[in-house]
Amino acid sequence: MNRMIRSGTLIALLPIAACLLISCSRGGKTPVLKASDLPVTAGPYRLERIYENTWAITETSPLETVTCYLLAGEKRALLFDTGLGTGDIRAAAAQLTALPVIVLNSHSHYDHIGGNYLFAEILGPDLPETVRSARGLGHEAFVSFYRDAYMMDPDSTASSFVIRPYRITRRIHDGDRIDLGGRSLEIIFTPGHSADDLCLLDRENGVVFSGDIFYEGALFAHLAESDPEAYRKTALILERLAGEFRYVCPAHSRPMAPASRLAEVRRLFNRIDAGTAAVRDIGNRLLYSSDSLKIVLNKSR
Ligand SMILES: [Zn+2]
Repeated sequence: MNRMIRSGTLIALLPIAACLLISCSRGGKTPVLKASDLPVTAGPYRLERIYENTWAITETSPLETVTCYLLAGEKRALLFDTGLGTGDIRAAAAQLTALPVIVLNSHSHYDHIGGNYLFAEILGPDLPETVRSARGLGHEAFVSFYRDAYMMDPDSTASSFVIRPYRITRRIHDGDRIDLGGRSLEIIFTPGHSADDLCLLDRENGVVFSGDIFYEGALFAHLAESDPEAYRKTALILERLAGEFRYVCPAHSRPMAPASRLAEVRRLFNRIDAGTAAVRDIGNRLLYSSDSLKIVLNKSR
């Protein structure tokens, strides 16, 4: 009986699924989902509305779980990060807005730029790391980055993982504003985790999109391109933002947290420098922790 009900539901849903497939395969317009349809799962993506005209697109894979954010104005939408590229994030975004979508990356690590190649308009800073990353990442280079970052091999399902090249079409600078039509966003450079980290500020709604410079978990300041001194300076910026904004939307962990948590980064660095942070030896790295935040540094920091 239960099985019959389930198959009945399945038959009822088939025309909708077929319609979605046809519209995609013929290159027609994807129907935009209503707020009441969300959250929904589409391939590796979970689509959820976080506030007005703003959505989280969370991609799950054996390599990483990463959240990208789509912010729509009246004329265009901005996709902040494109994830790993294990699915079609352009098609996922088209389920949320019919507006043209431009891309901005929080930084150019593999788990944030993987879907860039799907987009025609990509904003990026004029920094060597950003320019280099746009050339793509071969599998060998990806594996060596992954080993260095996580101190382990990537999952065997990623045996052919690469980042496809893409083209940055517009240079952005620290303090720039992006006009989406009736909605203005601000860019602030926040290096430390990598050389080209930036945060996106939605002042009108009191929200900071922090990329990997802040999330709830172990922050990485031990990578080859990490700069702990730059991270310390960025921690001062984050402390200021903690007082000015209401929420922070990070690229990993939960999609929304109180912005006051941004101040924990500076507190943790202060404790590290004062020798009062809890510390654990993890091979050639040190894992520091205080409050509910952690940070990984090289021993020769
Ligand atoms: Zn990341």
